[in-house]
Formats: sequence, C-alpha cells, structure tokens
Amino acid sequence: MIEPVLDYIDENLDDSIEDLKALCRIPSVAAKGDHMVEAAQLVMRLLESADVDASLHRTSGAPVITGEINVGADKTLMFYDHYDVQPAEPFELWDSDPFEPEIRDGRLYARGVADNKGDTVSRISAIKAFIETDTKLPVNIKFVIEGEEEIGSEHLPEFINANKHFIKADGGIWEFGGSGIDGKQEAWLGLKGILFVQLEVELLSHDSHSSNACVLPSAPYRLVWALGTFKDKTDRILIDGFYDDVRPLSAEEKEAIYKIDFHEGRVRKFFGIDSFLNSLSGDELKEHYYNSPTCNICGIGSGYLGAGSKTVLPAKAFAKLDFRLVEDMNPDDILKKVRGHLDKHGFSDVKIAWHEGYPAAKTPVNHPFVEVVDRANQRVFGHPLVIHPTSPGSGPLYLFKGHVPMVSIGVGDFYSRVHSPNESILIDNFHRSMKRIAVLIEEMSNY
Ligand SMILES: [Zn+2]
Repeated sequence: MIEPVLDYIDENLDDSIEDLKALCRIPSVAAKGDHMVEAAQLVMRLLESADVDASLHRTSGAPVITGEINVGADKTLMFYDHYDVQPAEPFELWDSDPFEPEIRDGRLYARGVADNKGDTVSRISAIKAFIETDTKLPVNIKFVIEGEEEIGSEHLPEFINANKHFIKADGGIWEFGGSGIDGKQEAWLGLKGILFVQLEVELLSHDSHSSNACVLPSAPYRLVWALGTFKDKTDRILIDGFYDDVRPLSAEEKEAIYKIDFHEGRVRKFFGIDSFLNSLSGDELKEHYYNSPTCNICGIGSGYLGAGSKTVLPAKAFAKLDFRLVEDMNPDDILKKVRGHLDKHGFSDVKIAWHEGYPAAKTPVNHPFVEVVDRANQRVFGHPLVIHPTSPGSGPLYLFKGHVPMVSIGVGDFYSRVHSPNESILIDNFHRSMKRIAVLIEEMSNY
C-alpha cells in the first residue's frame, strides 16, 4: 500500500538532499541569535510544500513552528524537531565550510546536518511523499519545531502553556538518533534533566601584580577550593541530599539495558582511554550511564590565558557547571542544595550568578508505541532497534510527558560528531530514515 511512497522517496532523494543543504546553509546558531527567523521561514516553506498547515508562533525568543495535517484519523503522530544549531567554532578544525554543505564519501558535512536539520527534513520529505503520490495518510500529523533547543529551550514552555490543546498525540518522534558504534539503529526513550549554573568569585577591586599574592587573596584559588568540595576522588557528589530523589531503574529498564552491548573496548579506544571512570564495566557501567546524575565542570575562566607568561593575581574567577539529573530530581531543589552546600562549607562569597534547568522524562520501555517504532525499523533496516531507556543527554521532553509518548530515532550515527567540527550524516541513513518514517505511519494505523 505504501510502495508508491517508498518509490517516491527513492526517486526524489536528490531533492530532499537539496532541501537539507538549503536549511544547513542558514547559520541559525541559537547562541548568537542570528538568522533564526530566516531558518524558521524556510522550515515553514518546506512544511507548506508537503501540504502541511504550518503556523509560526512568536515567543519572547526564537519563533516556534507548528504544522498539522488533520485527516480525521483516530491516531495522531507528532514530530518534535529544532531548526537551531550549535556554534561552528573552531572554524579552522573543519575540512569544509560548516555552512556550505559538502558531500564526501557518502557523507554530508555541515553544522546542524545531524543535530537536527537532517531529521527535520527527512520527516517533512516522508510526509511529502504521501502527498505527492496521493497516498492517503492513515494518521493525523503534527509538528512542533522550535529554535532554542541548543540553548535550553528557554521559551518553549511559554509556547506550550499557550497551546496545550496542540500537545497531544498517540505517538511522537523526538529529534535525534541514528546508528551506534556497531551500525545498529538505536532508539532513545528518555532524556535526563539538567541544571546549569555559573559560579563567580570576585575578591579584589582589580587585577594585581602577582607579587602581592603574599598578602592579597586569590579568586581562582577560592573558586577551585569551592569546586573541590563538590566531589570526592571516586566522583561521589558530596552535596547534602543530592541523591535523595534519584528514582532507581525499573526491572523492565534493567532488563533492557543488560541486553545492550556497550562495546566497551571500542568506546574506550574511541576516547583514547584505558578504563572508564572508577574502572566501571559491565552492568554497573550501564547503570551509571543511564541512571547516574552528574556534576561536571564545563569551563573555568580566570586570569591570563594567552601565550607565554603574565604574572598576575586575578581579581575574578568563574566556572560553568552542569548537573545532569535523572527522573524525580528537581532542578530548583538541586539549585537550593548547591547554594546550601557552598554556604555550609564557608563559601557564601561564591555567587551563583546564573542558572537554568529542567527535569528528566522517559517513555516507559513497555509502551506499545515503542513496539510500533521497532516494527517500522525492522521493516526498513532489517534488525530490531537497540532500546535505550534514556539518553545520557538532556532535552525538554518533560513538556510532552503524559501527553505524547516520545521515541527518539534519527538520521545520525556514531561518527556524526554533533556539536563538534566536521558534523556529518551518512546519506544512506538519511534516505532510509525517510522510509522508516513512511513505514511507521503505516504501522501506526495498526496500533
Ligand atoms: Zn544538539
């Protein structure tokens, strides 16, 4: 019944690649806030070319786009994507211009091609194939495409609160995914939450000659001492009550993760390490990967960082930290605990200058929609999905929790280098992912 749709996808692959290239040429870097409306408008045109009823919703930040095809079916399938990308810097590490897409050895290189413009275009192209071949869509379709995913989806709650009626579907496909290190297709059923904070210390009115370090206090040392109290050397986080609300993995989740081949040796080799943190391996390594919260230093800044030496006693120091949170941990609660921890250890002068965050969310591993996605994957890729109960990464899935059971699959692969120079996708994954969406739409009518 969907043969013509699949044939259309094959015959029009080049057009889909051109659409993707056009979207990748727009440097919609959310962190810089440039070109956001331009990217949103192109996404609108792509949706309209697939007969999707598209709307652009202004927010206090980048616009959110919705799309809908209501065929009066019983079931509705939703897609969540984003048109923003990470900064491309450092440019010198790219082998081609990050905003001029280039195909080399079966891969398409561009900033955002994997995360997540390739997914966005593959999903729109799959819908277009139904429309262009006059094949009746057996499900209603909805899109939510935002422009601030890479900077914490700050204004998505504003849109969702104003459009609660729209956030409802029988199944949803989340933005990212692809094949793992062994080439097998993976599905991610959840996302961790996150709390991001910036700590700042200022001890002098201005930088001083470093000879004064014998009588003046050092801001970077003060910050390093404060940071040193957050963890012990086995990586145990020492903030009072930090682990209190961690929900343990369920029996079904444990069963799912114990089945996964983590390819420990290959992953260690990829990162150039002899062993994982605390020599973790086997089931214990997996339990940490899927269900450990973290306290991570993303960056520390102070003093002179240029070539050679400059003897200076810096007045100020700052650090950027992220805490990945698992289900039931609340970012506001963790923020209070971080503040309480600093005060208790005598670091009331270390300021939390800035923070943002949101909680974790998961679709249950035994949800029937997961099976539907798996069947579609088997029909196109010829093997069952590797089911991850959650990703170790974060995303605003909590906003859809209880309204749309989301599964994350996509066009990427282990070597896609998302957020890094030379981001790329395999054209073949992009092609087959479009077909997987078409088959999923068919499978959804039997669910
Ligand atoms: Zn990303």
